[in-house]
Amino acid sequence: MNEVVDDLFERLLNDPNTTIDQSLLIYEIIKESKIKCSKYDFMLKRLNKDINVTKNYLNASIEDLQEANEEISKVNNELSKMNRNAHENLNKLEIAYTDLEQFAYITTHDLKQPLRTILNFVGLLKSKKGDQLDLEAKMFIRFILDSGNRLDNLINDMLAYSVIGKSGNSKEFIDTQSLISNVLKDIETQINDSNAEVTFDKVSEIFGFQSDLRSLFQNLISNAIKYSKPDVAPKVHISFIENKNAWFFSIEDNGIGFDSNQKEKIFNIFQRLENARHVSGTGIGLAHCKKIVELHGGKIWAESVPDKGSKFSFYIPKFEMKIMVSQSVKNNSMKCNISA
Ligand code: ADP
Repeated sequence: MNEVVDDLFERLLNDPNTTIDQSLLIYEIIKESKIKCSKYDFMLKRLNKDINVTKNYLNASIEDLQEANEEISKVNNELSKMNRNAHENLNKLEIAYTDLEQFAYITTHDLKQPLRTILNFVGLLKSKKGDQLDLEAKMFIRFILDSGNRLDNLINDMLAYSVIGKSGNSKEFIDTQSLISNVLKDIETQINDSNAEVTFDKVSEIFGFQSDLRSLFQNLISNAIKYSKPDVAPKVHISFIENKNAWFFSIEDNGIGFDSNQKEKIFNIFQRLENARHVSGTGIGLAHCKKIVELHGGKIWAESVPDKGSKFSFYIPKFEMKIMVSQSVKNNSMKCNISA
């Protein structure tokens, strides 16, 4: 029996695949056994040597670990410093952005008054002295009125842009079905004049700023009708899907479309494409839409094929709504506990 055990031990010890754990186990078995012989002494010595090597190896590893730990805390300190700097820069940026928005609001607002005066007086000139003016003077007046009205539209759009998200209202649950129906009522004349057919999927309630979302839908639906092909009645469909994280909407049309290379550019303020040459507009509508979607923490994008149509899609995350719901659930359960 001893020989079999000897043989087994020897093979295990000489096997290079024997792990440290296994060596330690063998060592324990030999130590515990009552058998004493020179062979085991030899084995014990060898195992002791192995253990010492392992100890040294472990000590070296611990030193390495300590060094790595010191490096990590250095990097951590650097990171917290960078984080603090980023926070400070963000605060400065926020202040600068607010100043800029205030500046845009004040200047556009102040520009309105003198422009109104110019337009009123040129209007009076046309109505009161029109018959004393020659054809050229009448043409000049028309140019002034056209450009003045365009400037007035631009100022109004800029004012609307600068106050997005500043209504003071808070987010709420919105009956999107009636919000879209109301938008369609607001643009009824445009729909009837162009013979447009607008359809939409059944939509659920969403959580957001009512008036901003209304102008988001209005801009996108109105554009889908505005950029229609001549002699083709516009067909617009609003599709909707939702998953556990977000609500997704798409507004698809059969209009003139645009080159897909321009799909980012069109969301920039005052950016109008070649296809808009014969259509009136200020080039601010889609920038407006982008700002509203981003205000809700979402993203907007466009796809289009010239002469086939365009599709504008956006999503709004449910994150804040989930927090609201879970808070109100918590509050209700707290109330229940108190009353019980
Ligand atoms: P505006 O309509 O006042 O020009 P927008 O910001 O709403 O400004 O749109 C920017 C540009 O994007 C438009 O001038 C037009 O070139 C293009 N565009 C927007 N919507 C559509 C659409 N549904 N189909 C084709 N082109 C579009």
